[in-house]
Amino acid sequence: MTTRPEIKSPPFPADTVSIAGAETGVLHIDLDALVNNWRALARRVAPAECGAVVKADAYGLGIGRVLPALAMAGCQTFFVATPREAAEARALDGRARIFVLDGLFPGAADDILAAAALPCLAGLAEVEEWAAHARRIGARLACALHVDSGLHRLGLPLDEVQRLAARPELLESLDVVLVMSHLAAADDPADPANAAQLEAFTLLRHLLPRAPASLAASDGLMLGPDFHFDLVRPGYALYGGQAFRGARAPVSPVVSVYARVLQVRDVQPGGAVGYSGSWRAPRASRIATLAVGYADGLGRAASAPTGASGGSVIIHGARMPIVGRVSMDLITVDVTDCPVTVARGDVAEVIGQTLTLEAVGADARTIGYEVLTRLGRRMQRVYAGGGA
Ligand SMILES: *Cc1c(COP(=O)(O)O)cnc(C)c1O
Repeated sequence: MTTRPEIKSPPFPADTVSIAGAETGVLHIDLDALVNNWRALARRVAPAECGAVVKADAYGLGIGRVLPALAMAGCQTFFVATPREAAEARALDGRARIFVLDGLFPGAADDILAAAALPCLAGLAEVEEWAAHARRIGARLACALHVDSGLHRLGLPLDEVQRLAARPELLESLDVVLVMSHLAAADDPADPANAAQLEAFTLLRHLLPRAPASLAASDGLMLGPDFHFDLVRPGYALYGGQAFRGARAPVSPVVSVYARVLQVRDVQPGGAVGYSGSWRAPRASRIATLAVGYADGLGRAASAPTGASGGSVIIHGARMPIVGRVSMDLITVDVTDCPVTVARGDVAEVIGQTLTLEAVGADARTIGYEVLTRLGRRMQRVYAGGGA
């Protein structure tokens, strides 16, 4: 279940936020919190190494700021999803190890090599292709081997691992620096799939030549030292996410989203608000219109037709419900019960210390991961800390 922290006392964060003149809202990214999160996770898993997953533009927060901040803190291993992301990461850091999680797909080898990145080879065909490439250029090529311990998404299944083990000439062309796998249900410590995958992973890696191993992402590392192996690969937790359903991860929020109040109006009882009139005022109501919508990453499923509950925002420290449809650029919020009068020019918290990624995700019938990675396509990104 989502925890909803209590609302603190004034001054409320949103009341002290300034939004640049031409902007409708702002995405605040606290690079000090990000770095502290990485350090806390690194301490948690030591002596295992703590890498960082920076795929999808660092979960939407901007790899150009996130990667250098983490590298400066001592992070040496980064994971991206695609060859293009690997090139972006390489341009930011000449020395780091950069793994490509999507592996080697046809035509990708040259770009992966140009980025001096390492593909997480996820099938025998990929291993054969990378080995052929190595022979062609006359050098051993570094890579990770991604084995399938039960997620059945990417990775060499048992029979391919066995066939690979029987072909030492293939492995001779390769420098396997990591054997990795990914967990399917790590957010739930009670799920027996975790122990089953741990056992399968241990079996699979022992069929292969000895190499450092990695199994855990943000939630997996919370399952305890048995899951840490040599390297962990958190993404979401670095950005303040708390998806693990056991103990709290030792991380704090990194992201806040604030939006302007554009107008406040009175709506008579029975008055319809928003597209299709899906919400009708049950009483004389004060409705604030805020400059944030689904084009900014706020889920349209946070809409609240009459009788249903949707998302909410924090204005002057009070939680006020979104009413009616979330539209592309705007939401309407019922501020009738706000203890402080809401006025044009006020600023509301849409995501932050009170409205966590998990709470906003739940209100929009999705998960915090999706909320996070969709933010900020339009909103101004403002960075604090981390040598910003
Ligand atoms: C995205 C991803 C991660 C990071 O997952 P989080 O839950 O964000 O920590 C780690 N490993 C693999 C294979 C991934 O695809």
